[in-house]
Amino acid sequence: MSRFFSSRHTNLTPYTPGEQPQDRTYIKLNTNESPFPPPKEVSDAVSGQAGLLQLYSDPESADLRREIAKELDVPEQQVIVSNGSDELLNFAFQAFADDEHPLLFPDITYGFYSVFAELNRIPYREIPLNEDLSVAWEAYTTPENTVVLANPNAPTGLELSQEKIEAILAADRDRIVILDEAYVDFGGTTALPLLDKYENLLIIRTFSKSRSMAGARLGFAVGSEALIGDLNTIRNSINPYNVNRMTSAAGIASLRNRDYFRSCCGEIIRVRQQTAEKLRKMGFTVTDSKANFLFIASEQIPGERLYRTLKEKGILVRHFDRDRIWNYTRVTVGNEQEMQQFLNAVNEILREERK
Ligand SMILES: *Cc1c(COP(=O)(O)O)cnc(C)c1O
Repeated sequence: MSRFFSSRHTNLTPYTPGEQPQDRTYIKLNTNESPFPPPKEVSDAVSGQAGLLQLYSDPESADLRREIAKELDVPEQQVIVSNGSDELLNFAFQAFADDEHPLLFPDITYGFYSVFAELNRIPYREIPLNEDLSVAWEAYTTPENTVVLANPNAPTGLELSQEKIEAILAADRDRIVILDEAYVDFGGTTALPLLDKYENLLIIRTFSKSRSMAGARLGFAVGSEALIGDLNTIRNSINPYNVNRMTSAAGIASLRNRDYFRSCCGEIIRVRQQTAEKLRKMGFTVTDSKANFLFIASEQIPGERLYRTLKEKGILVRHFDRDRIWNYTRVTVGNEQEMQQFLNAVNEILREERK
């Protein structure tokens, strides 16, 4: 740290992204990227913008928002887009949480929530997950707190039912509930139908996982027109051109290729179920994941050692050095061939463990 760094930030611990090592080629099952490239129409759309980069992007992202609105069947005034959904989480925390509305989120969830809370100096409380790693939903019905929940949750993959989500929303309609639906396209249930009934609901989504566009950085949020207006006030105070031309065109092309998107999600769900079944037969505990990753543990090998030995064999998974989940590893669902290689490696490792 330099002696010039503001004392405001001396205690800030930044988010730790999953490793992206360059020393060799790995089978990458550690950052929940899609194993499938985006459709060809997306690369064509990106190339189409390359010769126009002397011009700013549309600060309203009107075309892209219209396309998202059409897909979700909501008015476009209820949609805002962002440079990755992380950016929108940051905007939403700035807009809807403060000393009077401290944040509530689970102790085991997406790591960025506490980072953005710290960065923006918003008080927050972490609610421990239940013993079975499900979200202790009743704790979020306390009034006044701004709630943020990933549904399905990460890294557990577990989903909270819409009845429980609705109970949280109804408990206090004068505070915001932010639902991070980053993984909802992999078989989860969206809270979009609740938007008409609850003006305190904000839904945040991303193109990073289910739309094979992590590198493009594109997220969006849906909420009442008034909430989206507040988020635009924050956005226009930070970066009105937050979505660049290439990403915007890529997003539109992705939305227009609905069949490709659906078949990719369907294949990931199929491979997820198949891999989960095989892991259970090998003695693993596997959560009932509704996401594009599996959260697994085995009595036969500690999570950290599984992570390390897999890495030696050229397969990257993610291990979290945290209480209660130290024995787990999170494994992104790759394509069928990658998952077969993963399962073979796990088999080999367990055999070596028994020696
Ligand atoms: C990946 C992820 C995000 C953010 O993704 P972006 O790439 O910034 O759009 C947000 N929330 C959760 C729970 C995630 O796993």
